[in-house]
Amino acid sequence: MPELPEVESVRRHLAPVLAGARIEEVELRHPRTGRRNLHPADVPERLVGRRVASVDRTGKFLFLPLDAGLTWVVHLGMSGRVQLVAPSEPEQAHTHFIARTEQGREVRLVDPRTFGFVAVLTDEELEHSSLAALGPDALTALPGSSAFGALLTGRRAPIKALLLDQHLVAGLGNIYADEVLHRAGVDPRRPGGSLDPPQVAAIRSAVRPVLRAGIRHGGTSLDDLAYLLPDGRAGDYLSRLQVYGRAGDPCRRCGGPIRRTVVAQRSTYLCEGCQS
Ligand SMILES: [Zn+2]
Repeated sequence: MPELPEVESVRRHLAPVLAGARIEEVELRHPRTGRRNLHPADVPERLVGRRVASVDRTGKFLFLPLDAGLTWVVHLGMSGRVQLVAPSEPEQAHTHFIARTEQGREVRLVDPRTFGFVAVLTDEELEHSSLAALGPDALTALPGSSAFGALLTGRRAPIKALLLDQHLVAGLGNIYADEVLHRAGVDPRRPGGSLDPPQVAAIRSAVRPVLRAGIRHGGTSLDDLAYLLPDGRAGDYLSRLQVYGRAGDPCRRCGGPIRRTVVAQRSTYLCEGCQS
């Protein structure tokens, strides 16, 4: 699933084109893609003729405030991909949404598994949706050390599961949570409440460098290429991952083997030599 670095990379491609642009034509082709609106038909109806004020992001969600008190929300789900192309560009299979700007650029959502969505919500709808419960953004609003520690106090869940909880901190997913914990030297299976203050501080200070490195490389495109940048290029952080997907390979820090285990029903990779 695209995580914060992938969604931020998409945001950075879209912002120069969409900020200030007026949306002229919209096609919503798959009702599931519009399911977060009470009436999926509201998506095209509300979007056409609106001007995009800016392209923002919290966690793994893109938020594009529009005029008239509406917000356009885009989520890539498991396998969604945003394309920014000329209208003449041949369409790919599973193109479920298209918005055309007055400058003649098209934003398309290609989403084979349809876990992604496009919504256009009023302020009130947004306030009453699950999106309002998102925690602070892991890149731009990460809580300070003591506030971050307070989130973990008394928690029995494994620290990996807590890092994946979008209500605590928004943006980390399976890949970058493993990378953060390796950088911090903390075993992903440790209950959150059992960590000592230096470990909590180490995790907190690992979050932003890991995310920034991912963003610098355009995010992580896995071998399935489900995630690509809006211009069709792959993100190239995959070869720089320290643990994720590297079971059996040597740890780049200590040379010991990277192991795969399962935490909170998710594949989890760690170096037992470096993480305790
Ligand atoms: Zn190691």
